[in-house]
Amino acid sequence: MTLPHLRISEPHAGLFAYYDGRVTGYRFDPRPNWVDAGGLGLGIASFTLIEGTEAIVYDTGTTPAHGVAIADHLQGQGVERIRIIYSHWHKDHIAGTAQLLAAFPNSPIIANTRTAAHLTAAKTDLESNRRWPPIKPVVLPTETFGDTLNLTLGDRQIELHTLNIHSDDASVLFLPDEKILLAGDTLEDPITYVDEPQDFAHHLADLKRLKSLGATKILPCHGSEPIIAAGGYGPTLIDAIETYTAWLHSLATNPENAAQTVREVLADHFAQDHVTWFEPYAEVHAANVKAALGVRHG
Ligand SMILES: [Zn+2]
Repeated sequence: MTLPHLRISEPHAGLFAYYDGRVTGYRFDPRPNWVDAGGLGLGIASFTLIEGTEAIVYDTGTTPAHGVAIADHLQGQGVERIRIIYSHWHKDHIAGTAQLLAAFPNSPIIANTRTAAHLTAAKTDLESNRRWPPIKPVVLPTETFGDTLNLTLGDRQIELHTLNIHSDDASVLFLPDEKILLAGDTLEDPITYVDEPQDFAHHLADLKRLKSLGATKILPCHGSEPIIAAGGYGPTLIDAIETYTAWLHSLATNPENAAQTVREVLADHFAQDHVTWFEPYAEVHAANVKAALGVRHG
C-alpha cells in the first residue's frame, strides 16, 4: 500500500509529525472500515522526537504502511535506536508497531499499565476479522508505568502523564523545557470523540490536570494538518474541549439541549479561533450526543 497523502513535517526542531488523511474523496478502502472511520477520515498524526541516532516514537501509525513510512524516515535521518510509546490503546494509533520493530528489532514499547491491560484483553479481537482490517499482530507493551514516567532523549527532558480523557488510559507526552505537549486523543480539533461517556467527571478533572502542565504548543493526533505543521495549538484548545465536555456532561440533566450543533456549543471558541471546523465532525458530535444521552437512560 502506498500512502499518497502522507505529509511529514517538523513542527519543532527534532520533532516530526507524520500526518495522513483529511483529504476529500480519499479513502483507504471503499468498504466500511475503522482506518477511514476513526483515522484517515478525520486526519491523524504520529510523532517522533529525534536526537542523533536515537528517537522516541509516539504512536506507530494507522496502518502497517504508516509504520513502514515512519521507520523509513527515521532511518533516513540516521536513527539507529528507538523507543516506542503508545498514546492509548486505540487501534488507529498502534497498527504500525510490527513494521517499526522489523526495522528496529527489540525496541522497548512503553505504555501505562491501563493501556497494557486493554491491549492484552483486546488482542485476539483486534487481530480478528471482526474488526476489519485486523492488526496482525497487535504488539503488546514491554515496559509499563503508573501515573507518570520521566525519560530523557539527549538534553531533552520528557514527561509521560497518565490521564483519563477520551479513554481511561491516555499517556500524554510533555516537554517541560519547551512547553510542548503531544496530547494523543485527549484533545482534538474541534471536539474529542467520546468512547466512555460514563467517565465525563474524570475527563473534566483530568482536563484541569492537563492544563496545569502549562503547555503552550499542543500537538493532538487528530487536528488540522497546517496548524500541527506550524507548531500546534495554544492552550485555548484545552478550554474548548473543557467547554464541550462539560456541555455533553450536562445533557444528562438538560437533554433538551441535545439538538445544539458544535458551532453553537463552541461559538465563543470558534469566534476566537481556538478550534477550526471540519465537516466530518458533525457525525462525531451526533455519536457523542447519543452516547451522552445513553448514559442518562442507562
Ligand atoms: Zn482514540
